[in-house]
Parts: sequence; C-alpha cells; structure tokens
Amino acid sequence: MIDDEPPLRCPLCSFGFVEDYLVPMPLDGSRFRMCEECDAVWEDGEDVEAASAQNLLWYLQDRGLQPWLEDVQRA
Ligand SMILES: [Zn+2]
Repeated sequence: MIDDEPPLRCPLCSFGFVEDYLVPMPLDGSRFRMCEECDAVWEDGEDVEAASAQNLLWYLQDRGLQPWLEDVQRA
C-alpha cells in the first residue's frame, strides 16, 4: 500500500503525529484519525484542526462502543 501523505503534526499537542485508525469489524468499521500522543480524534475526511478535534472516548461512545483503546487498530 502506497501512503504518500506526509506525517501530520497534531494541532492540539503539537507533539504527536496524526495517524489513520479504524474501528474493526464486526464493530462499525469506521475510519478516523488520531494523535498517537494525546488521543485527539478527527473523523475521516475532516480537516485536522484544533477546533474540530474530538476525544476518543466521545467518538467511540457516539458509536455505542465501549471506550477501549484495544478495540481500535492502526489502518
Ligand atoms: Zn496530539
């Protein structure tokens, strides 16, 4: 798989990088992006900006999922 996007620096903590993740099936299969340092989350296709950042717990709870980090995978 070719990934030609440059690493994206997190606008919240300005320290970590924002990576692609997914909620694996048989959960809902949704994709999102998350900062590996501060767990800020952006939905797929959303601009990675401080103003639109979500929290991982809210993101998973909105989907009816338990907020367990081990349920998500690097995409
Ligand atoms: Zn961050």
